[in-house]
Amino acid sequence: MARPGDPLTAYSRHSAVLSFGWEVNPLIFSHSQLETYERCPFKYRLLYLEKIKAGRRSIEAFMGSLVHETLEKLYRDLRMSRLPELEDLSRFFVDAWRASYGEDVFIVRSEYGEEDYLNTGLRCLENYYRRYYPFRGGGTPLWLERRVQIPLCDQEGRRVNFIGVLDRLDYLEGGRYEIHDYKTSQFLPTQEMLEGDRQLSLYQLAVEASFPDVKEVELVWHYLVFDRELRLRRERKRLQEVAADALRVVREIEQASDFPPRESELCDWCEVQEHCPRRKHLYMVAKLPVRELGMDRGIQLVDEYAEWHARKKEAEEKLEEVRKEIIEFAEFHGVEKIQGTSGVLSLSRVRRPVLPPEGSEERERLEEVLRGASKWEAACTLSPSKVSSLASGEELDEETRNRLRELLSWEESVSLKMRGLFE
Ligand code: SF4
Repeated sequence: MARPGDPLTAYSRHSAVLSFGWEVNPLIFSHSQLETYERCPFKYRLLYLEKIKAGRRSIEAFMGSLVHETLEKLYRDLRMSRLPELEDLSRFFVDAWRASYGEDVFIVRSEYGEEDYLNTGLRCLENYYRRYYPFRGGGTPLWLERRVQIPLCDQEGRRVNFIGVLDRLDYLEGGRYEIHDYKTSQFLPTQEMLEGDRQLSLYQLAVEASFPDVKEVELVWHYLVFDRELRLRRERKRLQEVAADALRVVREIEQASDFPPRESELCDWCEVQEHCPRRKHLYMVAKLPVRELGMDRGIQLVDEYAEWHARKKEAEEKLEEVRKEIIEFAEFHGVEKIQGTSGVLSLSRVRRPVLPPEGSEERERLEEVLRGASKWEAACTLSPSKVSSLASGEELDEETRNRLRELLSWEESVSLKMRGLFE
């Protein structure tokens, strides 16, 4: 019976939750689904709510999946008592690469080409092969690229199934198990980052629920590019926290009504950019031949805008220069109106208070005075014109007006107004 509040209630320690086909359950989430939502809610909406099929994949994802396939083949061969040579695995990898590499694979880091990624994949395999050859030291691989389900229970007592694909599960003597995960990322996480892992922790729950003899589970990451093996053991309390956190994200997704795009450096690798308002036009233009760029209306408009913006800035600078000269001219000749060929320019002088700077003691005292006089609401934006009218009008008593005036300094500003000759 599900107990609300305990995420592991639905998960029974020794019940088989291993599944070859997904249960019919509306609350099914995968780790990558949650990760997608956390990184960009809009991408989540596109992929999981609108179910848009991404027609492309990054070369990193392509390379990673082939490395996984090749390592799966290695362990399937070992299971059949065949130890493949490194050359056999490399050939398998290259053949699979050549057979499936196509237009749908895109490269973001344009300084590198297809061959660079292929060689990186080969190096990942070589690193792994040389490190573990002849593959007798570890445990017995029980699962290879196995789909698993982890049933959890949310706060309302509803069952939420998490699903995922576990790269490899090894059995060691004495009820010890190891969950292995292959990574071809160019980024090596710190131990602290591993502590925050959700994916393998959820897989641990699946393993514990599937094998009655589990005494110990270790999580093992193989960062193949760096030839590094990172390990972690999870306390039960931490597993509960991870499960509760996963359910929290599920709840957040369920309650979300808005799925805004969240731009990040990962956008360049986003496989649904052509559907995203933040990237659609950039993506479309990037595919245009150079000779057609000038024909795109979007490009034309932005270029026009940029040009007028630059002109506006230039005009504003020039206006300010002339304005200063006009004021000097008016002061020198003692005039308030100046005749031009197209109109008359009037100068009027306005005295405005200079508000003490935000955070200063004077500013605080000024706010205090206004609050004390119940005028804070009216002047809470502290606009100089409002404060000016409070300091000089009849709204406040004489004493408060004086206190206000003490806190203000005054500056004079000149405004220019042009009127046409024939208006
Ligand atoms: S391009 Fe960026 S902002 Fe747009 S959906 Fe993809 S990840 Fe989100």
